[in-house]
Amino acid sequence: MTLVVLALDALDAGLVEHFDIEAFRLNSGGGIETFAHTQDTPYTPEVWATVATGLPPEDHGVTGAGTSEWDSAVLSALSRVSGRFSESTRGTLGGFVRRHTGERERIGETDADSVFDRDGAVVHNWPGIHDGSYLQRAWDLMNAASEGAPRHEFERDLFGLCAGQFGWAREMLNHPVSLAGVHVHTLDAAGHAYADDEAALRRVYGRVGAFVAGIEAALGPDDDLLLLSDHGMRTAFYPGDEGEDPAGHSWRAYASTTADDHPTSVFEVREWIEARVTDTRVEREELDMPTERLRELGYLE
Ligand SMILES: [Zn+2]
Repeated sequence: MTLVVLALDALDAGLVEHFDIEAFRLNSGGGIETFAHTQDTPYTPEVWATVATGLPPEDHGVTGAGTSEWDSAVLSALSRVSGRFSESTRGTLGGFVRRHTGERERIGETDADSVFDRDGAVVHNWPGIHDGSYLQRAWDLMNAASEGAPRHEFERDLFGLCAGQFGWAREMLNHPVSLAGVHVHTLDAAGHAYADDEAALRRVYGRVGAFVAGIEAALGPDDDLLLLSDHGMRTAFYPGDEGEDPAGHSWRAYASTTADDHPTSVFEVREWIEARVTDTRVEREELDMPTERLRELGYLE
């Protein structure tokens, strides 16, 4: 049995209904509770580190301030200022710093134990836990789009990243893996870029939905899929966002699963996963181990 966890950043419970994308609505799903810590709305690395560790940000230590450790003293002062801004503002400031100094921010990783620290679990990239370079790349693309990069380049590079991440998740179903997790930033980057363009964001939701449907179709009878988000995205066209600034994070985080019931809070996800994952890898290795090999190893007389 493999549980695939797709961390679909900014998948918005309201927009799933608004765009009416069936692929995101699995057997059980709906809005889930999330939190804000250093900013007024949920902040990506803080929430994903909580999802994977089950700990509040005070305990896992991946916070707004800790996610941008530029190397020099001057840059760290800039970083402290930028920690109070939104992700898109931080992206612009990060781009400025990179162009003028060659330095770049780093996304912190927690020292705390996570749901992926178990036999048979694999993780491709997950903010605050493993390999923040994919999130940085998506932030770079979002930044380039806000500075006028052509849409066809933005989408080519963004969907290139997305396809690699979904392809990895699908491949893991061919291996004795109990838990496979990957964070995909496509809907967040596109949400910031297309917050005032309903047709463009609808198209992106549809394409990401098609990737999800591909994974669902590849599941074996004992496999499960969990979709999660850390927050949603306010837009100029969603009826519930009237009077709000578009392109900020909404509180409409979402979860959906092929299993019988979905987690209802980002704090519950680790426990939810651990209740469902069994360590198939070790069992299969033991079953496949030939008697002769066990004898050589001294396990049999
Ligand atoms: Zn996010």
